Amino acid sequence: MRKKVVILATGGTIAGVGATAKTAGYRPGSLTADTLLQGIPEVAEVAEIEAVQVCNINSDDITDAIWLDLAQTINAMAQDEDVAGFVITHGTDTLEETAYFLNLTVKASKPVVLTGSMRPSTSISADGPMNLYQAVCVASSDAAAGKGVLVVFSDRIYSARSVTKTSTYHVTAIAAGEMGAIGVVRDGKVYMYETPGKRHTADTEFDISGLKALPKVSILYFAVDADPELLRFAASRSSGIVIAGAGAGEFSESYKQVITELSVPVVVSSRIDDGIIIPDNLLCENTVAADNLSPQKAAILLRLALTRTADLDQIREMFTIY
Ligand code: GLU
Repeated sequence: MRKKVVILATGGTIAGVGATAKTAGYRPGSLTADTLLQGIPEVAEVAEIEAVQVCNINSDDITDAIWLDLAQTINAMAQDEDVAGFVITHGTDTLEETAYFLNLTVKASKPVVLTGSMRPSTSISADGPMNLYQAVCVASSDAAAGKGVLVVFSDRIYSARSVTKTSTYHVTAIAAGEMGAIGVVRDGKVYMYETPGKRHTADTEFDISGLKALPKVSILYFAVDADPELLRFAASRSSGIVIAGAGAGEFSESYKQVITELSVPVVVSSRIDDGIIIPDNLLCENTVAADNLSPQKAAILLRLALTRTADLDQIREMFTIY
């Protein structure tokens, strides 16, 4: 008997429409999930599909309200024993953020798999159909259960925590830097090799049921002559700040001076892709090390942490666990 997979479509380039020989200047979020599925009848041999159009947008317009809706929808539908897993189609720009948010808030061990494409659906050699087909294969696979939220892209399977967008144009743009892929898909078969080591999904302490919004967190990117007054402005508009520091989370003396005066939690991440920030790297006592989370992922963990506490030591603990 075929397993049932729910596709939650949100838009992005995979649903984009433009000129056939072009990969820029197209409209993301134009086609519905049903239209995308008509192009890959092979999916029906893998799983019975229920398609839900959550929204149809450029992923740069994703909001906390959409994240909460997605997580609450998955948590409710996962109760149905007929549902084997979920696929979320998504723009690649913020795909890693939605994946990590769901990795921390979905309360199920059933596979939840995000995918997208770099070329719009109308492009020569569009990558969306194969990515969607492979995502359905992973979502219906027993090997993918209990591994946290996954991303399938260009034959590879990534964990939500490590995955990131690494190119503005290439079909292998979604990758995981020094952490690498945890599995691959070949001819519809799933080969899983690694298990994510950080706590996720049903094992997290974050409960988003009933939530309508997340605390706001601002990300500030440090560079030579970065204006420290922006830190004060960000603190006046947000419940927390993430700094994309230089190197191992460093910044200028003038930045340091203002940070020591801030009363909102400040998490220090890095503008470097690969690497880790440890507590000994921190220049200010009232800050939290982001471990190896990128600034955009550190912001998600800080937003969720702030739904539970503003205590710096408890937030520090969360940045070691998740
Ligand atoms: N900006 C678009 C989006 O994120 C295009 C990126 C993509 O999907 O590849 O939805």
